Amino acid sequence: MSDTIYDVIIIGGGPGGLTAGIYAKRAAMNAVLIEKGVPGGQIINSDEVENYPGFEHISGAELGMKFSQHADTYGLEVEGREVAAIVPGAELHTVQLDNGTILKSHAVILGTGGNPRKLGIPGESEFYGKGVSYCAVCDGFFFRGKTVVVVGGGDSAAEEALYLAKIAEKVYIAHRRDALRAGMLLQQRVFDECKIEMLWNTVLTRIKANDEGVYAVDLKDTQTNDQRELPINGVFIFIGFVPNNAIVPAGIKMSVEGNVITDEKCETAIPGIYAIGDIREKYARQIITAAADGCTAALAAAHYVEAKKAKDACTL
Ligand code: NAP
Repeated sequence: MSDTIYDVIIIGGGPGGLTAGIYAKRAAMNAVLIEKGVPGGQIINSDEVENYPGFEHISGAELGMKFSQHADTYGLEVEGREVAAIVPGAELHTVQLDNGTILKSHAVILGTGGNPRKLGIPGESEFYGKGVSYCAVCDGFFFRGKTVVVVGGGDSAAEEALYLAKIAEKVYIAHRRDALRAGMLLQQRVFDECKIEMLWNTVLTRIKANDEGVYAVDLKDTQTNDQRELPINGVFIFIGFVPNNAIVPAGIKMSVEGNVITDEKCETAIPGIYAIGDIREKYARQIITAAADGCTAALAAAHYVEAKKAKDACTL
């Protein structure tokens, strides 16, 4: 067990967590950020970010690195570990790391994000990495001059299809209904891209592969139930995220989708525990809203810790 009692432990090194780290250090808090992977979060897989104010065009990897470097200038302590458990306490909260280390803090900021939602169809898990992917920037390179299908109708599906259109010969977008959920600007770019063909009212029912990798998918028309096989070389699935909520302690309220419910200060039902970014129940899941959550939670935590310490001093 570490002897240090932190003011705040930040879990997750995405835009929310790193912003929380910057604000926590600026508020002179003794803070540590725990991140099991590379600081920067999901955005490091984004080819192009064009809606973060101040940067007309920047790659997700570069923006993530800038967040990380910015936090580093304030001397934010970063621990490259996975959190195994959070145990809320009346006096102090406990965070247990995967190597058994126990950390104690007055406040905890939870920004663990989410993982790609799975279709759950035959072939999806079997052929992951052999033609099935959840990241065009990571795997698109392997499909130069080939035909791929993107599944989904949100911003991610639209963005990744546009990215893949720069590499592949042909990109289908299979969407389960007849209108995209993606923002209008992205929709227009998709419709203007001659390499992209929309498969409306279409779901995948099976992914087929041989020794060479994926060669076809079975499709079903959601209106007519007609089925057909579509020859393709790759399947890119972007149908939303499932929040990483495994370590959310009992007593914290969550939505039916598993997102953490907070108040406007990002504080959960347990005092001193905050949730930020994609794991938090909210309207817009953007880099800027994750960063805004990080700022809000760190400022609220600073106030909470200060008030708690003042109260503790009076009762000594
Ligand atoms: P999303 O907005 O939740 O969209 C998921 C899409 O997948 C929807 O079109 C949905 O269809 C479809 N879908 C869900 N489950 C499905 C299933 N089982 N089978 C087939 N289709 C299914 O997810 P996202 O695109 O990953 O975006 C997540 C958040 O990040 C959003 O708030 C988005 O605005 C944001 N984002 C922003 C940017 C940007 O601004 N540059 C980029 C990426 C993501 P329905 O439409 O029928 O529900």
